[in-house]
Amino acid sequence: MTGIYIHVPFCEKRCIYCNFYSTTRGKADREAYVQALIHEMELRRTTDCISSIYLGGGTPSQLDAEELAQVFEALHRLFAIDPNAEITFEANPDDIHPDKVRQLVALGVNRVSLGVQSFDDTRLQFLNRRHSAQQAHETVLQLAAAGIDNLSLDLIYGQPGQQLSDWEQEVETALALPVCHLSAYALTYEPATPLHRAWQRGEVQACDEELSLAMFQSLLRLTEAEGFEHYEISNFARPGRRSRHNSAYWQGVPYLGFGPGAHSFDGARRRRQNLPQLRAYQQTDFGHADVPHTIEVLSDAEHYDEVMMTRLRTAEGIDLACLSQDCGLDYSDYLLRTAIPFLQSGMLKICRGHLRFTRQGIFISDHIMAELIWA
Ligand code: SF4
Repeated sequence: MTGIYIHVPFCEKRCIYCNFYSTTRGKADREAYVQALIHEMELRRTTDCISSIYLGGGTPSQLDAEELAQVFEALHRLFAIDPNAEITFEANPDDIHPDKVRQLVALGVNRVSLGVQSFDDTRLQFLNRRHSAQQAHETVLQLAAAGIDNLSLDLIYGQPGQQLSDWEQEVETALALPVCHLSAYALTYEPATPLHRAWQRGEVQACDEELSLAMFQSLLRLTEAEGFEHYEISNFARPGRRSRHNSAYWQGVPYLGFGPGAHSFDGARRRRQNLPQLRAYQQTDFGHADVPHTIEVLSDAEHYDEVMMTRLRTAEGIDLACLSQDCGLDYSDYLLRTAIPFLQSGMLKICRGHLRFTRQGIFISDHIMAELIWA
């Protein structure tokens, strides 16, 4: 089984916190991108069964009807897609209208991940998002009414000036909607973003760490009360509604990434990254060359670090027998040795052969993982 990720590097405008690769260029660039994308898929096609497809970005919902039809025609022509494949489409609420919803359903999209981020208009404006809270509400209802019931919302907590009660209200608003998945992230100050510059100039104040932790704790409590399972550090799903595509990433399943900036993984040691350069991508001479990319073959230690960090993020944790098989006894011994202080302090536990975070440990997961890496 293999996943496909398609990076759509277009946004109508840039959000102040974002460091994902995207551009605000328009229609002509999108058309050239779609042609190059199809060429890349033709060049790198596989006969593997495709178990999930994820259109991310950027903003896939910026693609118009014709562009979307071309991308999906190529996907079905070139790949053996499992009839039960999960097909996820990332969208901004203000790009969604009845015609688009009808097209998504017709194209076989069965999961939509909406970049809501907040249900507070003042915060949305601060983040430079395009949509309003009302639009987010209406979009969810519209998609659900059209039969796309596998809906996920992205939310951001720890925003400047945000209080615990504000955040709890946001989560409650999200949970009152017909959604079955939430991805919630603490606001981060990524270098070279407008938010980072504003913070450096002292114009915004980062959320206090204790408050951010309290928000995360509330998130766990509120989602649990609504029957969501906390299946990955930042992800929550109703039973049976985990993201299959992202879960496959965390379990080391191979995936092919298409589009500028997209990553691919062969399921073993080889990683590929398409360079995040739209112009060079569009100008590839597909008769003679692949798109500009780099290849990285992971060393034993890098492979261990990656396996440890991706598996430990999940509720199931790391299967210790699989780890020693995959990375070797030296590495599984190393993990168990470095884990001892966290096992003793109740931050980690071993359960049916899996090493995983406890409820307390999850709150300091970054710190623990930093201690468990090899390098
Ligand atoms: S957060 Fe999403 S919509 Fe905003 S700039 Fe980044 S990729 Fe574009």
